Amino acid sequence: MERVLTQGATDFIDDKLLHDLINNTKEDLPKIREILQKSKSKQALTLEETATLLAIKSPEGLEELFETAKELKRSIYGNRIVLFAPLYIGNYCINNCQYCGFRSSLRKAVRRTLAEDELVKEVEQLEKEGHKRLILVYGEHPRYTPEFIAETVKTCYDVKVGNGEIRRVNINAAPLSIEGFRTVKESGIGTFQVFQETYHKETYAKYHPGPGTKSDYMWRLNAMDRAFEGGMDDVGLGALFGLYDWRFEVLGLVSHSLYLQEKYGVGPHTISFPRIKPAYGMKLELPYEVSDLHFKQLVATLRIAVPYTGLIMTARETSEVRDAVIEYGVSQIDAGTKLEIGSYQEERKDDQQLNREQFKIGDSRELDEVIEWLLSRGFIPSFCTSCYRLGRTGEHFMEYAIPGFIGRFCTPNAVLTLAEYLEDYSSEKTKSAGYALIENEISNMKNASKQQELRSKIEMIRNGKRDLLY
Ligand code: SAM
Ligand code: SF4
Repeated sequence: MERVLTQGATDFIDDKLLHDLINNTKEDLPKIREILQKSKSKQALTLEETATLLAIKSPEGLEELFETAKELKRSIYGNRIVLFAPLYIGNYCINNCQYCGFRSSLRKAVRRTLAEDELVKEVEQLEKEGHKRLILVYGEHPRYTPEFIAETVKTCYDVKVGNGEIRRVNINAAPLSIEGFRTVKESGIGTFQVFQETYHKETYAKYHPGPGTKSDYMWRLNAMDRAFEGGMDDVGLGALFGLYDWRFEVLGLVSHSLYLQEKYGVGPHTISFPRIKPAYGMKLELPYEVSDLHFKQLVATLRIAVPYTGLIMTARETSEVRDAVIEYGVSQIDAGTKLEIGSYQEERKDDQQLNREQFKIGDSRELDEVIEWLLSRGFIPSFCTSCYRLGRTGEHFMEYAIPGFIGRFCTPNAVLTLAEYLEDYSSEKTKSAGYALIENEISNMKNASKQQELRSKIEMIRNGKRDLLY
């Protein structure tokens, strides 16, 4: 594929500015309090303000940061957590990313692409567990063309088992051309994610030495511009934490978000912040490894800095870390995750086979266990896809910006998808915890007729009706 950037493509990552902000911003409590106060009035932060939050070191300052992030998440987004499963389609790859178990120089890695019938079986299994939302993941290879990606998306949507169906397919794949993005968009995808990995150019060059297109920093940085030009309306950003200074990566993500917002009038739909994990054949020294405390700080800072963007915390993190961090702004997590290609249909194994996978996961709980945990924490596990399916794209922005949106749409929709899960897939224990939480949510609703409406929809679900949405 010829690599053509969008017209007027710019490098909006100002290395010097970001380094200056990191080196010259000192902790300043009055200023921090002013910024935290401002964030409550629903405004995104500037780079300077973000740097001020990243400079916090004192327990007092951190406590205030975490409290604000938690409050923002609860009061603005409510207590829903959206669940999805990653599905690896193929791990052939021309690139040589030094941290990845799929990199081309690893001759002994087991390479595989799911055949159509294998893909159908994987999706059937995921539906039998209760999943409604997938993210399809691909290496970068000439065989994974936009047409191939579009075909796999359509296959997923066509698989139906019992009451099961996939209602939203997102993609994590190599950056495409404008035409390529258009082709994939037309297959009905939700979000297209491309992680920049590191926004720091020298570090980028070090970990992506080539061969392969990934060594081209600007081709990747410009990916979301091409996605928007190709008609995509939901894009997902990310950085792989541990390659370079975590503060620089947060400022890189915020620079990218502000740039998209200004140029296209829409910020990113989601931001992911994976921390690097051991991978097959990985012999990296990681001088920038991110501690658990800094991880929590970066999540809370992102929540406050880009308030209308969903935050995704993956199963790379352990169940303990997920438990400790989820309330500070996370809106989506994966659950029941298996990374080995073709492994959803296989018997559950406790040991991962790293030579068949991209990296080691931290949270290998089954979907039902994750749901039970979320319920015990007072979160509503949600499989909701209503906005996207009713053409209300940019839902995170609406949730955030339209008064009453969460109460009118998000919470009842989350409750309805939870009720479907409880009826069709859950263990008895999860079912009773789930209905107790639903009852609690309904009794907290202020409007009696809305309460009645939701109760009758739940009754319809109990009587076999599915896919009711607000
Ligand atoms: N091949 C495509 C690409 O690189 O953009 C898409 C899929 S790649 C399989 C998805 C993401 O996994 C990468 O963008 C990277 O951030 C992450 N990843 C790769 N190796 C990892 C590791 N060892 N630990 C944690 N995440 C990793
Ligand atoms: Fe290939 Fe993506 Fe892995 Fe890089 S991160 S080696 S591009 S699969």
